[in-house]
Amino acid sequence: MKLHEYQAKEVFQKAGIAVPKGRLLTSSDKLGSVLEEIPGPPWVIKAQVHAGGRGKGGGVRLVKSPEEAEEAVSQLLEKPLVTPQTTAEGVIVHQLLVEEGVDIDREFYLGMTVDRKLACPTMIFSPSGGMEIEEVAKQSPGLIFKEPADPVTGWMPYQARNLIYRLSPLPQGTAVRQLSSVMKKIFDLFISNDCSLLEINPLVITKQGDVVALDAKMTIDDNALYRHKDLAEMDDPREKDPLEVLAEAANLNYIRLNGNIGAMVNGAGLAMATMDVIKLAGAEPANFLDVGGGASEEMITKGFEIILKDERVKAILINIFGGILRCDVLARGVLEAAKKTDINVPLIVRLEGTNVEEGRRILQESGLDFLVAKDIAEAAELVAKEVRKQG
Ligand code: ADP
Ligand code: MG
Repeated sequence: MKLHEYQAKEVFQKAGIAVPKGRLLTSSDKLGSVLEEIPGPPWVIKAQVHAGGRGKGGGVRLVKSPEEAEEAVSQLLEKPLVTPQTTAEGVIVHQLLVEEGVDIDREFYLGMTVDRKLACPTMIFSPSGGMEIEEVAKQSPGLIFKEPADPVTGWMPYQARNLIYRLSPLPQGTAVRQLSSVMKKIFDLFISNDCSLLEINPLVITKQGDVVALDAKMTIDDNALYRHKDLAEMDDPREKDPLEVLAEAANLNYIRLNGNIGAMVNGAGLAMATMDVIKLAGAEPANFLDVGGGASEEMITKGFEIILKDERVKAILINIFGGILRCDVLARGVLEAAKKTDINVPLIVRLEGTNVEEGRRILQESGLDFLVAKDIAEAAELVAKEVRKQG
C-alpha cells in the first residue's frame, strides 16, 4: 500500500524528520485561507497522486503570488496529470499539497528498501538527488552509495558516516549530524512500519543549513497492514485500478496485466503456470486471477464479473483443478455471473478434479456457448487461436 506524499510527511514529522510547512487542499475555494497559514510566497503546489515524476509532468509548481497559486490550482485540481510514470491518459488529481517554498542549497537522494540479494534492509544515498535519480543510477552508478543494515544489530551510527563522508565537499555546520539523524530515523520508520520502500528525493540542505525532506514516498507491505490500522486507514482507493479494488473487496487475488486473455484459475501456482502456457501459445494474459482453494460460489461469480468488466478481454480461459473448490461450485458461480453480464467473447473451459462430471453437466445444460479443453496446453492453444481469429 502506498501513501500520498502529504501522508508520508505527517509520519516523518511525527518521527522528528523536518518537512516544509504545508496544508492539504481539496477544493479551490479554500486556497486563500491555506495560503494565509503557510509562510510564503514563494509557495509550492504539488499534485497528490501515487505516480512519481510529478515535477517533470508539471505536477509541482513554484508560485510567487496568490494569483499564480490560483492559476496553478485551477490547472491541476480535478484534472488529469501525465508524468513519465503514468499512462498517456494520466491520473486525476483530487488533492494538492500547498507548501512553503524552500531555499535549496544541495539536493540528495535518500532511500531504504530491502536488498533481495543481501536479504537486508539497505540504505541508499546519493549526492545527485532531485528529479533525475533513475538516470544517475543508469549512467553513473558510482554516485549511488549503499549501506546494508544487519537485521540483528540494526542501523549503526558508523554506517551513516560511511555514506555522508563520501560527499565532497562535506556539508558544513550541523548538517552532517542532521543527515545522520535522518538516516537513523528512516531506518527506524522502515522497520517499525513494515515498509517495502521509504524514499526522500530530494532530501535537501537549505541555504540556512537545515536538512529538510522535500518529497516523501512510503510503501507498506500489504501483508503487514493488519498491524498498522492507522496507516491502513490512509488508503486511497481512487489511486488504484478499479477492478483491483473490486477484487480486493471480494477477497480475490487479482492483478491486472497488459494482454487480452482473461484467466480464472484456482491456486497461485496453477495461475502462474496458466500465464506461462498462455504466453507459450503466443498470447498475453489480461490478468492474474487466483480465486483461491476455498472459493465460494459468490467469489467465483465476482471473479468472473471482474473479468467480464475488463473491456480489453477478447477471450476467457477458465482453468480449474477441483480440490477443495469443487467443479460444480465453480460451474454454478460462472452461470450466476453469466446471467448478470452478457458474455460476448469466446469462453474456454478446462475442468478437472472433484465433482468434475457434475460441473461439466451444469455448464453443458446451461446453454452457455463454450469450448472444452482436455488439458492446460490445449486450453492455451484454443484461447490463443480465438484471439488470433479476432485479429
Ligand atoms: P517528484 O519526485 O514527483 O517530481 P518532488 O516532490 O520531488 O516531486 O518535487 C520535484 C522538485 O520540486 C524537487 O526535486 C524540488 O527541487 C522541487 N520542490 C519540491 N518541493 C519543494 C518545496 N517545498 N520548496 C522548494 N522546492 C521544492
Ligand atoms: Mg521527488
